[in-house]
Amino acid sequence: MLKAMGASPGIAIGKVMIKKEEKIEILEELIEDVEEEIKKLDDAVEHSKVILNELYEHTLKNIGEDEAEIFKAHELILYDPELFGKTRELIKEKKICAPYALKTVTQEFLNIFEMMDDEYLRERASDLRDVTTRVIKKLLHMEEVDLSNLDEKVIIVAHDLTTSHTAQIDKSMVKGFATEIGGTTSHSAIMARTLEIPAIVGCSNLLENVKNGDIIVFDGHEGHVYINPDKSILREFERKEIVYRELKEKLSKLKGKESVSKDGVKVELGANIGTPDDLDGVIKNDGEGVGLFRSEFLYMDRDTLPSEEEQFNAYKKVAEGLKDKPIVIRTLDVGGDKEIPYLDLPKEINPFLGYRAIRVCLDKKDIFKTQLRALLRASHYGNIKIMFPMISSIEELRSSKEVVYDSMNELKRENIPYDEEIQLGMMIEIPSAAIISDLLAKEVDFFSIGTNDLIQYTTAVDRMNNQISYLYTPYHPALLRLIKTVIDNGHKENIWVAMCGEVAGNPKLIPILLGMGLDEFSMSPISILKARHIIRNISKKEMEIHVENILKLSSAKDVEEYIDSNININF
Ligand code: PEP
Ligand code: MG
Repeated sequence: MLKAMGASPGIAIGKVMIKKEEKIEILEELIEDVEEEIKKLDDAVEHSKVILNELYEHTLKNIGEDEAEIFKAHELILYDPELFGKTRELIKEKKICAPYALKTVTQEFLNIFEMMDDEYLRERASDLRDVTTRVIKKLLHMEEVDLSNLDEKVIIVAHDLTTSHTAQIDKSMVKGFATEIGGTTSHSAIMARTLEIPAIVGCSNLLENVKNGDIIVFDGHEGHVYINPDKSILREFERKEIVYRELKEKLSKLKGKESVSKDGVKVELGANIGTPDDLDGVIKNDGEGVGLFRSEFLYMDRDTLPSEEEQFNAYKKVAEGLKDKPIVIRTLDVGGDKEIPYLDLPKEINPFLGYRAIRVCLDKKDIFKTQLRALLRASHYGNIKIMFPMISSIEELRSSKEVVYDSMNELKRENIPYDEEIQLGMMIEIPSAAIISDLLAKEVDFFSIGTNDLIQYTTAVDRMNNQISYLYTPYHPALLRLIKTVIDNGHKENIWVAMCGEVAGNPKLIPILLGMGLDEFSMSPISILKARHIIRNISKKEMEIHVENILKLSSAKDVEEYIDSNININF
């Protein structure tokens, strides 16, 4: 048995498919048979055309025409006579291998593109790089597993899965994923929960122990992993799967019921989503709204910025899909473990403390404004609220609001309708913001506490680093005190306070948060009904007493033990 961290609940039983991240090394190798080398190049080009065409068809069918177009554009590059003509000439002339020749010619083309000050051509440069990399990988026998186009059901095993890999996953074919690194609040883990795919992370040496085709089973809650298990373990996991399914069925009876405590206090249970497609999960799990739409996922897994129109359509789709239920859309939160390669952000030593989120948006106001215009336009079609991520000071909040007001004025001049009463809120995920939340509360309509980052910044523990994950705990008295301060400060100014970090869906902490007075809990859709069950089985008055006791405790261990021995919820 290998130990890992449970990242997304559920039992996974299935065949291993390893996703390797290999570095491409292209050496200048001399060849003897020129004709043979040119044939290899031509075969790789033909193969890439077939793959790109398949990707086009798959995307057209599953996502949409605009998203599929990129693959058509890529395929066209494969027909470029100059690019491949020059590559063939170089192979003949210098007797060098095809990958090296293609890399050299590509670089010549890129140098020309980069000298031109034209955004369109720069986009073409990134397309060119993508396409020739695809051909080179084929030549080097390094083709990647395409997660959106699998032909059998598998469990993906990888050293790490980037957020954009996770975004490509075809949910109907992936029964689970397991990685060697990453934390439970890494964005791949968060997406697994949204997709309702069982997942474990932080399973060191996993790749040394598995090969393609092995059978792997794991429990996405506890994190225990077995490779090629014997019959008794397999049977135990099959039983666990049944218990898990039965619990899900039992909880599904809570659909349509109110999220109200035994003493009549009603709270709102919202969902966290990344794309409009995640709405299915929200509706299926009876979410009462969306408490966090991580808009950055609209910017990922593509080569260019999404236009105002494209974003408007995505936000409008969510707003209309939820009818009059509230939806909090967070403005672009790029950085940390969420990379957007085409933005060419600098590589940093401490990316989580660096140029990210609102810092990027206030610096690149054109990108920010495009998004805000799209959000405001969509607000005409539903109950949208705008939220700013990573605010650390009052100046950042004021500057962000200024850009919203500028965008409103523009739309007014253009006679484009938007919700003039739209609520503006901010995340509290940086200790400085939590500490001055009394001041910030005077200038926003709501707070949403982002515990994923608030834990890492308060305790100086990188949320991605599994070597120190034992220190990354939501039970730390410092965190609980900060949360209580933020809720109290918000309420003093009569604003509502939500939480959209993973703590909001933590069954042990939900009672404590209710006792502290939290108004809205936003979590992975999969956790909503469980949270409703908990809320309906406790009384806020009783929880207030537990909060008082807990805030006097001195360690995370004491807090967790107190909850385990004093608050018991039966399922
Ligand atoms: C958080 O930090 O708690 C949060 C919700 O934002 P993200 O996980 O996207 O950083
Ligand atoms: Mg955050």
